[in-house]
Amino acid sequence: MNGIRHLFIPGPTNVPEEIRRAMNIPMEDMRAPDFADFVLPILADLKEVLRLTHGRVFVYPTSGTGAWEAAITNTLNTGDRVLMSRFGQFSTLWVDMATRLGLDVEVVDVDWGQGVPVADYAARLEADKKHRIKAVFATHNETATGVTSNIAALRAALDAANHPALLFVDGVSSIGAIEFEMQDWGVDLAVAGSQKGFMLPAGLGILGVSDKALAAHERATMPRCYFSFDDMIRFNDTGYFPYTPATQLLRGLRCSLDMLLDAGMERVWDRHHRLASGVRAAIAEWRGCSLVAQGPQWHSDTVSAIRTPADIDAREVIATAYSKYQTSLGSGLAQLAGRAFRIGHLGSLNPVMLCGALSAAEMALRDAGAAIVPGAGVAAAQEHFRATTAPVQSRP
Ligand code: PLP
Repeated sequence: MNGIRHLFIPGPTNVPEEIRRAMNIPMEDMRAPDFADFVLPILADLKEVLRLTHGRVFVYPTSGTGAWEAAITNTLNTGDRVLMSRFGQFSTLWVDMATRLGLDVEVVDVDWGQGVPVADYAARLEADKKHRIKAVFATHNETATGVTSNIAALRAALDAANHPALLFVDGVSSIGAIEFEMQDWGVDLAVAGSQKGFMLPAGLGILGVSDKALAAHERATMPRCYFSFDDMIRFNDTGYFPYTPATQLLRGLRCSLDMLLDAGMERVWDRHHRLASGVRAAIAEWRGCSLVAQGPQWHSDTVSAIRTPADIDAREVIATAYSKYQTSLGSGLAQLAGRAFRIGHLGSLNPVMLCGALSAAEMALRDAGAAIVPGAGVAAAQEHFRATTAPVQSRP
């Protein structure tokens, strides 16, 4: 009677009806003779989404955090020096994991609102003549702050320093939504999760692994078991898994890959850019609000983190949007708690859905006391969407 609840958090994202239906099937035999015919094309198509022709893709029954751990434990040795940066909650958690797993982490702290400090990394790599740094980590899209970093520039810095370190990239909130070129950017380990650009429930950790990383794996001695590449390779080569796979999620993944690849990755990236630009046009009209991202070079096309005016508690905005307008906005994490809220604009979305999110945010901001002109942001987004949206020809 009250209509639907609206989900505008940056993951889990909305699951399209086609995917929900694809997952609604009876349990199946994961050792059936024809199961491999289903699995092998999924692994091949994931490489297409990642833009990888060599190497491998692994799909673990886990979340993005598990795929982070798989990447580290399979390719590094305890005590290895790694170069990382912190500029939001997720890059911070990755540093925490690397430290707890026994790596020697060289951390660069960056203002929340900026991203991977490429020039700083470049100087450190240049100075590391003995190549003690074994891996360089980058959070491509920091979901907590709505900041996207330039991975191609980071690859160029590694090449300019002639440095052999592995390049680890967290693409949890970028892969399947914004440009990601695993091979061209020389990414060795690319981490993704099912619940964001892939428009699925949480539960699959997806990992792209380059040939260089597979070679590093041969020498790596860090303890691992559940996430072992060896076990996965042995079984995946014939189209099976070393333990019970999440078959329903794989059915959903099949549907998601069809949707993404039928559309074409460039069109998927363009669509996210158009949607994100409309959201940013709205935010620009919200008096006293601003993006956490400190400039257009950092703008994320999958999530916007929005600072509320100094006297407005963002938690109140989020709570009002939820209880009064049936709309979930993303919360401000860690140092942004109370100061910012987030709008996720990735996955299965269209302009009218986003106008709803913006409308709910405007009403909740006004309820909390912000001096927003009613409809100002929505109007700006509408004009942007009117000017940039073509009729949908095929499945969204
Ligand atoms: N990295 C980024 C950029 C994320 O946004 C998230 C989750 O939102 C994670 C890692 C952790 O992934 P998960 O929650 O699937 O374990």
